[in-house]
Amino acid sequence: MKHIHEDYLRSAMFGLQDGLVSTTGVVVGISTGVADKSIIILASLVAVSVEATSMAAGQYSSEKAVHQMDKIGKHNDSLALGAAIMFIAYFLAGMVPIIPTILFPQSQGRIIAIVAALIGLFVVGYIKGHIVESKPLRSATELLVIGGIATTIGLIVGHFLRV
Ligand SMILES: [Zn+2]
Repeated sequence: MKHIHEDYLRSAMFGLQDGLVSTTGVVVGISTGVADKSIIILASLVAVSVEATSMAAGQYSSEKAVHQMDKIGKHNDSLALGAAIMFIAYFLAGMVPIIPTILFPQSQGRIIAIVAALIGLFVVGYIKGHIVESKPLRSATELLVIGGIATTIGLIVGHFLRV
């Protein structure tokens, strides 16, 4: 892992985590509030594309600011590559809850999406904890809780704003 610039790793981990957490919240929320599967799929794909772009832009500009303040030349990573990694990581992670939503009937798809996303978060948390050499299980549990909260909020909003 030492030959990969840590800014790329951070970008990938953050993208995977956020792609899983927010897309699952969005997918579950819309799927709870709307009965039309094509609307659920459309809204989920719009959300994941827009969010991945926005996260990539955010990665680019925040990392640019960090680079401008870097006086010792530690940051030799490419801003564009960091942004691209963020986009891809976010988009791929977002597909984890979206694909079961497309493949399965609505009621089952929602449950499979939640389970798949929570497993994904646990794995990402574990890898993240492993990379930074802290406690992988603790980091995995942390992400699981964050994902659970976002999903619950999606469920509640979807339930009360049902159309
Ligand atoms: Zn950097």
